[in-house]
Amino acid sequence: MAIQRTLSIIKPDAIAKNVIGDIIRRFEENGLSIIAMKMTHLSAAEAGRFYAVHAERPFYKDLCTFMSSGPILAMCLEGKNAIALNRQLMGATNPKEAEEGTIRADHADSIDANAVHGSDSEENAAIEINFFFSDLDIHSRS
Ligand code: ADP
Ligand code: MG
Repeated sequence: MAIQRTLSIIKPDAIAKNVIGDIIRRFEENGLSIIAMKMTHLSAAEAGRFYAVHAERPFYKDLCTFMSSGPILAMCLEGKNAIALNRQLMGATNPKEAEEGTIRADHADSIDANAVHGSDSEENAAIEINFFFSDLDIHSRS
């Protein structure tokens, strides 16, 4: 499997719980390298642009409000099979359905406040990485 890049976000709920280190440890222990990193606080409009693919979904407004409710940590992860591997480490969107030992099983409280974001395809990973980072911010280690 090729080396891929994916976008990870530690969401406001997990930042508030002070579990950045625990989440990053899981990435590094599973062969993913952080090649760009930025703490930021999105406005609701910026969160809306990031989640534009969900604009028609009933939860869109609440999602944008939540994602702009506090600081987030955006990261570009790099490694073998990074997109699917990150999704596996995250667990299911609804923490009640997330497999034991996943980030969401351990740190998420609800389907709204579910600790982390991860890109779901190569196409979306490229768009999402570009949303937060320029080429100058990214330091490949592959
Ligand atoms: P994922 O983050 O696992 O890729 P989606 O892309 O489907 O999940 O949804 C984006 C985010 O929108 C989810 O992480 C979650 O915070 C929120 N969300 C998804 N589905 C629901 C839902 N049914 N009710 C409330 N929030 C939801
Ligand atoms: Mg998604």
